[in-house]
Amino acid sequence: MDEEKCVFCMIINGNIPAKKVYEDQLVLGILDINPASKGHVIMIPKKHYGNIYEVPMNEFLQLCNLTRAIGYAIMLALAPNNVEMLYTKELTKGNITPHALIHLIPRYDDDTVNHVWQPQKLIESDFTAIENAIKDAIEGVKNADAESTTEKPIEKPVNETKKPEAPGKIDEDKPIVNINRKVVVF
Ligand SMILES: [Zn+2]
Repeated sequence: MDEEKCVFCMIINGNIPAKKVYEDQLVLGILDINPASKGHVIMIPKKHYGNIYEVPMNEFLQLCNLTRAIGYAIMLALAPNNVEMLYTKELTKGNITPHALIHLIPRYDDDTVNHVWQPQKLIESDFTAIENAIKDAIEGVKNADAESTTEKPIEKPVNETKKPEAPGKIDEDKPIVNINRKVVVF
């Protein structure tokens, strides 16, 4: 989505009002207009990223640090049992969030927040396959990084095949296009 059409960018630019609880050069914290519970805050990078996986590391670290800090402030202010942190593209069904942000959701004895799932039944070999797939992906990213920093591209062959994606088994048809691989750092 373009920044011009992003409701969160409009809030950041002051075109839509919001209850701002925190603001600095990189990050804005506002009360969620459809709160899950009392004190539900969303922490937003001021620059438009459609997905948390696009946020460059320094901005991400700043966002995470401030998310925890504001969570602490919510605990001081409202005395919930806890404050949960959540990243999702779709907080409620069909309600896609166009801008990367982290939810801070205070929890109370009488709240109606409910994240539940039915635990999946997996056998040992399933767990092993998943474990290995993730480890292979990590190694693939590390190796790609190592290659890109140590190898100096001299002359690119004319018929250069596409640069190898890190985790060897990426399905080309799957939409990972919204994820900025370059910001992922191990
Ligand atoms: Zn935006």
